[in-house]
Amino acid sequence: MKGKHIPFTKEQIEKIIEAHPTPFHIYDEKRMVEYARYFIDSFSWNKGFKEYYAIKAAPNPYLMKILWQQGFGIDCSSMAELVLAEKLGMRGEEIMFTSNDTPAEEFQKAVELGAIINLDDISHIDFLEKVAGLPELVCFRYNPGALKDGNMIIGNPEDSKYGFTREQLFEGYKKLKEKGVKRFGIHTMVASNELDPDYFVETADIVFDVIMDISKELGIKFEFANLGGGIGIPYRNEHKPVDLIKVSNGIKELYEKTIVASGLAPLKIFFESGRAITGPFGYLVSRVLHIKETYKKYAGLDASMANLMRPALYGAYHHITVLGKENEAGNNIYDVTGSLCENNDKFAINRLLPKIEAGDIVVIHDTGAHGHSMGFNYNGKLRSAELLLRTNGSVIEIRRAETLDDFFATLDFESAKIFR
Ligand SMILES: *Cc1c(COP(=O)(O)O)cnc(C)c1O
Repeated sequence: MKGKHIPFTKEQIEKIIEAHPTPFHIYDEKRMVEYARYFIDSFSWNKGFKEYYAIKAAPNPYLMKILWQQGFGIDCSSMAELVLAEKLGMRGEEIMFTSNDTPAEEFQKAVELGAIINLDDISHIDFLEKVAGLPELVCFRYNPGALKDGNMIIGNPEDSKYGFTREQLFEGYKKLKEKGVKRFGIHTMVASNELDPDYFVETADIVFDVIMDISKELGIKFEFANLGGGIGIPYRNEHKPVDLIKVSNGIKELYEKTIVASGLAPLKIFFESGRAITGPFGYLVSRVLHIKETYKKYAGLDASMANLMRPALYGAYHHITVLGKENEAGNNIYDVTGSLCENNDKFAINRLLPKIEAGDIVVIHDTGAHGHSMGFNYNGKLRSAELLLRTNGSVIEIRRAETLDDFFATLDFESAKIFR
């Protein structure tokens, strides 16, 4: 069975496990950097092009630093994410703040950092002005409604809580102009985990179209179009990664036909991808604790959905490799489980795998996005360490594993003892 790429051998990972016990997430710096360069190079025709890494995928300062050094910005949507950018030393228009249902303190923090503020709703113009003042550059999130079919994960744009309607965009930019805002951006994001390159070109088409209409009607000039995230990754062996050159060529053609032809160039193209940037380059490494045979066969790991909840949450597929058995036939059917007291704590259901034994090392693929970051502590399960496999082959710990002391840090046992 031809497996997916793994950047380490069984011998190497056994060495790593001696210093860092399982389970852990490990990220492959080399291929992450290669992908970051490919992303930027694909859009080199567009002066000012920028990808803002959507930090919720894997909010770790080391990963951010690697991407920042490649020229990426960061896309934040919460206080913690803004503070993460701040602590790393990022400021100003390297930060995109795309939030919704936003608390006042978060707008205040974003304005303080000089971040690009992307408003989710027309009522937020007055709210932002009141709580933090209007910055000179403001962006709106566009929800094209019935103009665009959503994809499976994000749902139909008309049912989505995000963004302005088309009519509200006109009203909103007019209001900004009257209030003295000088610089304008527009954003849309209507896909999640989308593998069809044409989808992103169609999104650009809808955004360019509304830019032309608004510019003409209001006489404002747009600086950038942020086409959002949502670039999918090949979780399954048979999936193909999104061809970014194809996406770029399609967008360039539209750009020339519409933006350039209407005298609206230059317009910077932005993305705020998360999943595609780190997802394929992270692995959850875990050891098999027990094999159980009842009505079905179970391989129980030392990881649980506290380490990776996508399969339990969305029924998501994550490829699994039993290390050292890559060339054995996958003719045993297993549910691969964790130890949480929830029957959906499973990494795979009815998966064909080689014969597994207790002690085997299992690698779960494509956990670099929404893996560790979605972790939670239900049942007192602790979140694992994160490791970085450096380009030179060395391994560093970029986040330690949680301890019971971390877990209990918000409790006061002394008071509880005398409480009656
Ligand atoms: C989640 C999110 C992204 C990134 O999406 P990916 O699917 O990880 O590319 C970008 N922008 C916003 C507003 C998001 O919520």
